[in-house]
Amino acid sequence: MSIGPDSVVGIHYILRDDAGEVLDRSADGQPLTYLHGRGQLIPGLERELAGRGTGDRLQVKIAPADAYGEYDAGLVQRVPRRALKGIGDVRVGMRLQAQTAEGARAVTVTALSGDMVTLDGNHPLAGKRLHFEVEVAAVRAATAEELAHGHVHGPGGHHH
Ligand code: ZN
Repeated sequence: MSIGPDSVVGIHYILRDDAGEVLDRSADGQPLTYLHGRGQLIPGLERELAGRGTGDRLQVKIAPADAYGEYDAGLVQRVPRRALKGIGDVRVGMRLQAQTAEGARAVTVTALSGDMVTLDGNHPLAGKRLHFEVEVAAVRAATAEELAHGHVHGPGGHHH
């Protein structure tokens, strides 16, 4: 069957950036399993996978707007180190939960300068064009229970 809304899909993938550096990949021999059409993958990748079938291989290039969004400089803030009380050893690259007016948000420490810490609320892949090499490993229809829960059960999926 081909991939469409509510298909359960398993994919092997390698994700690279413009420079060809590997950013992420599915585990060796173990496909990533997801429920198609529910926003569990970035929009650009779901669109490319629609209509494909088991064994299909594709190479796709996805613009930031169809991936993790454009980089938003407004999500970068500098705070005094004392604002991060309770976090002993603040290092560049560290991921933290910051309390904002819109609730908890994941931020990355991107710079330390004197007493000031720069926190970036962008997704680490925001603003990046993504290059995916994908192989469709399996496609099946979702069960009624999976549709009700909104996620995949069984191997590669949720466990209860
Ligand atoms: Zn469930």
